[in-house]
Amino acid sequence: MGRGRGLSASAPGETCDLFVIGSGAGALCAALTAAEAGLDVLLLEKERYFGGASARSGGGLWIPGNSLGAEAGHPDSREEALTYLRHEAGALFDSDRAEAFLDNAPAMLDFVRAETVLNFVLLSNSDYHPHHPGGKAIGRSVMPARSTSALWASTSRA
Ligand SMILES: Cc1cc2nc3c(=O)[nH]c(=O)nc-3n(C[C@H](O)[C@H](O)[C@H](O)COP(=O)(O)OP(=O)(O)OC[C@H]3O[C@@H](n4cnc5c(N)ncnc54)[C@H](O)[C@@H]3O)c2cc1C
Repeated sequence: MGRGRGLSASAPGETCDLFVIGSGAGALCAALTAAEAGLDVLLLEKERYFGGASARSGGGLWIPGNSLGAEAGHPDSREEALTYLRHEAGALFDSDRAEAFLDNAPAMLDFVRAETVLNFVLLSNSDYHPHHPGGKAIGRSVMPARSTSALWASTSRA
């Protein structure tokens, strides 16, 4: 179990502002956001190790309009990304969800870069269909830098 910025066992009857269940990427981002906003966060993980499937994954993040792509000189726009998602999703396209993703994912990446030891690198991967409307040959895929993900792994034992 972890609390705030340190790790500790919790005691029965403890209280908190936010109780986060699990320690995958989604849970840790929620816990980090709340802790940075000043909330007292209690995080519960059922396994022996933190990280869930996220810690085992390839770590690739597809984030149109991310700052690493822009810094490397690969222009992107919300409109192009929306066009791509609309085209790829077809009848399953959900405008509200797609727009929420495009508005918040780049900010999430910048937040994690600024507030944690994790750094990220731009991958040379293209979109799955770069030739489709709004598709890109490079700039939208990032992953944790090997050096900082190894550091993360060394601290992830619960
Ligand atoms: C080999 C592999 C490679 C992958 N590569 C990629 C990739 O490159 N890019 C990509 O986008 N996706 C990839 N994925 C998918 C991606 O890892 C998952 O979609 C993502 O990690 C899910 O994150 P999450 O935060 O939702 O949950 P998880 O990371 O699964 O975390 C859930 C956590 O909650 C804990 N938990 C569950 N129930 C309870 C409970 N009742 N009490 C307490 N704790 C609980 C679990 O033990 C776990 O730690 C990959 C997956 C695998 C397996």
